[in-house]
Amino acid sequence: MAKKASVEKKSKRTCYSVMIVPQYEGCAHQFKVSRLAIYGVITAFILFVSGFAYAIAQNTRLKNTVAQYDGRGLDQVVRLQATQLDAANEAISTSNTELTALKKYVDYLGTLDAKVRKMLGVGGNSASLASILKSTATPTLSVSRGLGEAATQLSTSTAVVQKAAEAREKNLIVLQDAASKYNSMLSKTPSIWPLYGLITSPFGWRSNPFGGSSSEEHDGVDIAAPYGTAIRATADGTVEQVGWNGTYGISVTLYHRNGIETLYGHMSRMAVSAGQTVKKGQVIGYEGSTGRVTGPHCHYQVMINGTAVNPMTYLD
Ligand SMILES: [Zn+2]
Repeated sequence: MAKKASVEKKSKRTCYSVMIVPQYEGCAHQFKVSRLAIYGVITAFILFVSGFAYAIAQNTRLKNTVAQYDGRGLDQVVRLQATQLDAANEAISTSNTELTALKKYVDYLGTLDAKVRKMLGVGGNSASLASILKSTATPTLSVSRGLGEAATQLSTSTAVVQKAAEAREKNLIVLQDAASKYNSMLSKTPSIWPLYGLITSPFGWRSNPFGGSSSEEHDGVDIAAPYGTAIRATADGTVEQVGWNGTYGISVTLYHRNGIETLYGHMSRMAVSAGQTVKKGQVIGYEGSTGRVTGPHCHYQVMINGTAVNPMTYLD
């Protein structure tokens, strides 16, 4: 009996009775609810309310963030991007100006190339370069046309100009070589007077200077100047002969190129030795009256493959 009483006392402390009584008629219903169940329901309710409040707070914060970016924050981003685009546009515009100048310069080189080719008699076609440059339209760049398109055009134009410049460089190297050969040819071509004076006897047929009615073919020109006047090489060459030379007296013969030779006769003395290389304008001897002469002068003679030609053709 004592044990049963203890169980009933404990049940009274941990359970509650809920009675449902109809308002008018019918049987009443009674339920027993444990204290633990009630605590569970209350805890669940508190958790639900707390979670709902947290969700509302988060939503409000998110709305504020979006509003900030939609407003002032977004404006800042747009302004920054606009500034960057302006800077990019300006940089491309500057590059475009430089590219245009470079194209003009390469074009100028093409014109110069053609002129030099014509002067040197060198073949080749520089028109192709000009056509390439003309076909490469200089892009008008702007942000409104699209930065990507502008950059692509600029890159393409730069590549074309670079190729054109490389082609021009190759052509100039060819011309440089041609000019070098041309200069060498010029320097080895008789073109100056061996000395300045009076032409006392021209090239060709003349009456015998020693009198009589006979005539003779004169194979050079006689240039009279004060005795001892310096005689200069009329072109670059090599001393082929030096010393006494029959009727020419003391003479010097120079070999230049391609069978071209010059002879300077009747010298009083020479200033070079056999085999020596001489430059155009270099003193090779001095005027005199050695050999078959009637007075001091220099007999100047030009020969091509051993045949005397009129020296006046080669004199300025
Ligand atoms: Zn002569």
